[in-house]
Amino acid sequence: MADYQAPLRDMRFVLNEVFDAPALWASLPKVAENVDPDTADAILEEAGKITSGVLAPLNREGDEQGCKWNDGEVSTPEGFREAYQTIVEGGWNGLGGNPEFGGMGMPKTLVAQFEEMMQAANMAFGLAPMLTAGACLALDAHGSQELKEKYLPNMYAGTWSGAMDLTEPHAGTDLGIIRTKAEPNGDGSFSVTGTKIFITWGEHDMAENIIHLVLAKLPDAPKGPKGISLFLVPKFDVNEDGSLGERNSLSCGSLEKKMGIKGSATCVMNFDGAKGWLVGEENKGLAAMFTMMNYERLGVGIQGIGAAEASLQSAREYALERIQSRAPTGAQQPEKAADPILVHPDVRRMLLTMKGYVEGGRAFSTYVAQWLDIAKYSDDDERRKHAEGMVALLTPVAKAFLTDRGLDACIMGQQVFGGHGFIREWGQEQLVRDCRITQIYEGTNGIQALDLMGRKVVGSQGKLYELFAEDVATFIEENSSDENLRPYLEPLAAAFERLSDVTEHVIKQAGDNPDAVGAASVDYLDLFGLTALGYMWAKMVKVAAPKADSDTSGFYTGKVKSARFYFDRLLPKTVALAEGIRSGSDSMMALTAEEF
Ligand SMILES: Cc1cc2nc3c(=O)[nH]c(=O)nc-3n(C[C@H](O)[C@H](O)[C@H](O)COP(=O)(O)OP(=O)(O)OC[C@H]3O[C@@H](n4cnc5c(N)ncnc54)[C@H](O)[C@@H]3O)c2cc1C
Repeated sequence: MADYQAPLRDMRFVLNEVFDAPALWASLPKVAENVDPDTADAILEEAGKITSGVLAPLNREGDEQGCKWNDGEVSTPEGFREAYQTIVEGGWNGLGGNPEFGGMGMPKTLVAQFEEMMQAANMAFGLAPMLTAGACLALDAHGSQELKEKYLPNMYAGTWSGAMDLTEPHAGTDLGIIRTKAEPNGDGSFSVTGTKIFITWGEHDMAENIIHLVLAKLPDAPKGPKGISLFLVPKFDVNEDGSLGERNSLSCGSLEKKMGIKGSATCVMNFDGAKGWLVGEENKGLAAMFTMMNYERLGVGIQGIGAAEASLQSAREYALERIQSRAPTGAQQPEKAADPILVHPDVRRMLLTMKGYVEGGRAFSTYVAQWLDIAKYSDDDERRKHAEGMVALLTPVAKAFLTDRGLDACIMGQQVFGGHGFIREWGQEQLVRDCRITQIYEGTNGIQALDLMGRKVVGSQGKLYELFAEDVATFIEENSSDENLRPYLEPLAAAFERLSDVTEHVIKQAGDNPDAVGAASVDYLDLFGLTALGYMWAKMVKVAAPKADSDTSGFYTGKVKSARFYFDRLLPKTVALAEGIRSGSDSMMALTAEEF
């Protein structure tokens, strides 16, 4: 198995050359205060060292040992505590945090690169800083000043970690039916009682305190999603002077045994009249949680790319070393018993497909991060509103498409290894097992597709879609005289026309047929994602092609050739998807329950 190396060259290309992130940061005064290109570069460099030098070496052991439960206490795999300490000392938990409370205030465009490295190096571990950052976001956006002052500095520091407690045994997707209750104590605090399951890093031994953000219902709450409130429930109470007080009445009942991310603790959490504080307004908890989710969902998409990048690195190395059979065109290395498997078209197909999704996906996640930065930091109302629309539209695509294609890529990476991919030693099977959860948590990919098609596209009568369509149309128009880009712009324009036609078609159908959206949604998201990545590859060609002639490193020439493969072999999948969507819901809904 190749040792994971952070893909800094490609990240710098995407950040600086494709998206000109330094110009974006300079245009956002609150970001410009905290970051300049040199600082950003130093952060990338250091992140690369820590993720490949500290986190990646623990990935296999974390999987083999897993977390251990003993009478409510959870111990982490060997080396995790020390690695967590390294992350704390480097301030990595607070990288994107609010500087008013000790965060570093770095833009998401930069933080996203760190997240990818961390998730690629060790996804199970990476979930701890990821959930802490998400909890901080929700608290910073919705908590009272008092709660923020009391909790955020230690959470940004990482000495206290965060957990997100939504799911209950009978309520996952449908959070409107949760049963956890919060009763007012009369002193501003609440008693929280109930059971939450599947809580990632809900209990562990890496941080001094664990801050749970718990969804619960007040006694007189309306039924359904409009009756959910959000509470901060710490493992240890925090005294007025900031020191840790009594143990709160919450405990980890057990750990789930699971398919992947075994180095992370997936906890059953029992709250038994635990003391908590309301975050945001009563009955508005779900909305508050969504603040965190928009960021987390991009983060989960990034997990998909991260796992796929790790898989690609190993598969590429293996394809150069493993010798089997001769190239169809004749022996390439006659001095050896056989040629490296990289000579075979099918092995190339797998590696190029992986590259298509990983490098296109990295550009897409940075593109979405750019809109998140503008939505969060711009002083210009119109610009901010526009960016908020883009974030709303693109977040479900980033979460679901990047994790679906991330898993596909991991499976291809495993396939490149043949039987050795199925064996533990090479690490490919762990990546497949770890990546699988990304399609399920933070809202299943089926639910992301419904969110995209139902709430965002049909719900806005196409208005949100128009924002994106305009962005792409402008790019195509502005570059129409660029000779390098012509072979890419035509198929891109055709794919967009296809996507726009299907969008219109489903919006129309949705008016008459209640099943239309659900029947179209997953294929629609796929069609959207493939087309959006086509846009990303065209953007990359625009930068890379003019530099390709004088390129001795192979970076720019490789980029242009990889783009060609994406346009020849992956983008055309949109044709079949569009045709399937147009067939409507009839065949999907025709069977009776017995006929299944
Ligand atoms: C390892 C792991 C870690 C997790 N970490 C956390 C965590 O930290 N905090 C937390 O709160 N939760 C966590 N979860 C829970 C996770 O978010 C849920 O499992 C997920 O949201 C799905 O809920 P469910 O399992 O109850 O499935 P269900 O909601 O029962 O869904 C079952 C199937 O039905 C489909 N479905 C449901 N409703 C609809 C609908 N309206 N339309 C179409 N299809 C539908 C779903 O897409 C899915 O395919 C974790 C889960 C796992 C396995």
